[in-house]
Amino acid sequence: MEKILISACFLGNPVRYDGSALDVSIKVGLAAQAIIDQWAGEGRLVPLCPEVAGGLPTPRPPAEISFSKKDRSGLDWRVITSSGMDVSEPFQRGAKIAMQLCQQHGIKLAVLTESSPSCGSSTIYNGQFEQVKVAGEGITTALLRERGVRVFSQFELPKAADYLKVIEG
Ligand code: SF4
Repeated sequence: MEKILISACFLGNPVRYDGSALDVSIKVGLAAQAIIDQWAGEGRLVPLCPEVAGGLPTPRPPAEISFSKKDRSGLDWRVITSSGMDVSEPFQRGAKIAMQLCQQHGIKLAVLTESSPSCGSSTIYNGQFEQVKVAGEGITTALLRERGVRVFSQFELPKAADYLKVIEG
């Protein structure tokens, strides 16, 4: 049975930077929640918060990827808090822990929270703390994709479910 790496904040764990969890049923609908519930019942889910795993506390200051250094590969990106502190190291550590978990469980599919500097898969914030989203991906997502793991957001759960059927044959 294929396991799925999933952002811990999806599953009601209050690990987001502001100490909250993500309520999937409210944010993306009951159909999405049904998919998560089915996967949980099947014992597929491997939850992780890369930022907490990397050593950051909850709550923690908001942080965004700094675009001035974004021409480098994923693990070289810098992550800066709103007060200017460089927190790249725990973000990078968390990404590596996510990758190790994928290797340990043979994971080929991840569902991660959109727009996070760790977990974003299509958009992230612009690095200026202006609440402006731009195209991009988080550090954990970038590393997982580099190593062949398919990453979907919470808005793409039906697509993720289709992909699971493909890899399970
Ligand atoms: Fe959720 Fe990922 Fe942010 Fe952790 S790092 S709170 S799992 S989006």
